[in-house]
Amino acid sequence: MKGNLIIISSPSGGGKGTLIREIMNSVDNVGYSVSFTTRQPRFGEENGRDYHFVSMDEFRERIDAGEFLEYAEVHGNMYGTSRLITEHILSTGRDVILEIDVQGAISVMEQMPDAVSIFILPPSFDVLRARLTARNTEDAADLALRLKNSFDEVMQYQRFKYVIINEHLPVASRMLTSVICAERHRRDRQTEAVQAILDSFAQAKHQIVGE
Ligand code: 5GP
Repeated sequence: MKGNLIIISSPSGGGKGTLIREIMNSVDNVGYSVSFTTRQPRFGEENGRDYHFVSMDEFRERIDAGEFLEYAEVHGNMYGTSRLITEHILSTGRDVILEIDVQGAISVMEQMPDAVSIFILPPSFDVLRARLTARNTEDAADLALRLKNSFDEVMQYQRFKYVIINEHLPVASRMLTSVICAERHRRDRQTEAVQAILDSFAQAKHQIVGE
């Protein structure tokens, strides 16, 4: 059985990065699809772990080769999800987390209607601004652009199946874990496991009742 495709979106500073790190440490059988980007690495970011950092030329070549499940321009840089990486994680039976912007999320939902889409919402605009400012990873212009883009991004929450309000990290992390676990226990995702159990009942019935 393939794993679930889990799309997580939020405005920049919504806390999805921290939440996803928590989930990766605490939930079994989850993989993270490392995206490609033309953005410059931030201090402390590692190529291959946080992103595959590539030039614009390389990004274009990968678009032409059809390597991306989706790609989009976000806050002035290109970002794309590798089809191969995503498929590989799913084929090992693990859930795969895509941390992507709302444009990318909508594109993936259209291609894969069964994807589990989760929108992480900060408790207010002021909190978002405070978090993004405290993070201190963007220069003033980039920070202003990210805040400006958040106005349209939050309006897209209606496209998502789940919304998690990220006021307190431990609470939001529990909610995210619950959604991932609940989705794994959907009846239609358990047919193989259930069938094996039913087979044991059928066998026992044959021995005990003789039918
Ligand atoms: P950041 O520069 O802060 O790492 O990411 C900026 C935005 O790009 C975030 O909203 C993040 O979710 C989004 N993003 C990261 N990777 C991808 C991707 O592969 N595709 C799309 N569409 N968005 C991405």
